[in-house]
Amino acid sequence: MNRFFTSQTLQANRAVALEASIQKHAISVLRLREGDQIELVGPDAQPYLATILSSAPLHVQIDTPIARPTELPVQVRLICGVPKGDKADLIVQKATELGAATISFFNSQWATAKWAPNRVAKKLSRLQAIAQGAAEQSHRCVVPAVDVVTLNEMTKLQADAKLIAYEESAKAGETAGLVKAIATRPHTLIAVFGPEGGLSPAEVSTLQDAGFLPVGLGPRILRTETAPLYLLSAVSVLSELQGEKNE
Ligand code: SAM
Repeated sequence: MNRFFTSQTLQANRAVALEASIQKHAISVLRLREGDQIELVGPDAQPYLATILSSAPLHVQIDTPIARPTELPVQVRLICGVPKGDKADLIVQKATELGAATISFFNSQWATAKWAPNRVAKKLSRLQAIAQGAAEQSHRCVVPAVDVVTLNEMTKLQADAKLIAYEESAKAGETAGLVKAIATRPHTLIAVFGPEGGLSPAEVSTLQDAGFLPVGLGPRILRTETAPLYLLSAVSVLSELQGEKNE
């Protein structure tokens, strides 16, 4: 069933008019009709089943709340060195599917790609739209925020666990940091990733001084767009999957 995010406040057994953007997608693109059901998520992140009452303008009846949780138990903020080409699109789409709470980018020292300040607003608007589409597709209850940060701002961030995915740690055989961090059952986790050229020792040192822990993500060196997706998958396995309950 198709899920949409609305800015309208939702309440069971009430009728509500939806935005023109949802009408366009639901009626013109997906060809949904009166009587069809959709899923709606309002500003409080609670999803509801809803039934289409009329298509133009789009009015729906809010039915029952949907109880199935879809958010990661750990609020993960990814902070990625700006990658080349359109890899930021891929990171945002896939990281949203995998449950990221926030996806940030930073102009890192060894990146060949940099985002000029005058182009950031346009890039973020495009990436935010990609996040919304991916959140709807993956039945998230929250659309991750997409933003940019500086290294200085990163040093002031607070979280229960603060990690640097560091290729040099992986090469040195570090394998415990991520697993140990998730074992502490953090509510919030920040993970920093380098671009294609990796993180500079100066960046790693600055982040370590601010309480970030360098960790390896296994013995293979992953592409810049693969590493954040690996981390989110690992967080899901370590915090959401419980094999013995299913056996
Ligand atoms: N140029 C670097 C090198 O040759 O060693 C590789 C950089 S890698 C393509 C890009 C980023 O992904 C790294 O800076 C790091 O944040 C992350 N990364 C990739 N593989 C990793 C691993 N096995 N452990 C930790 N981080 C990794």
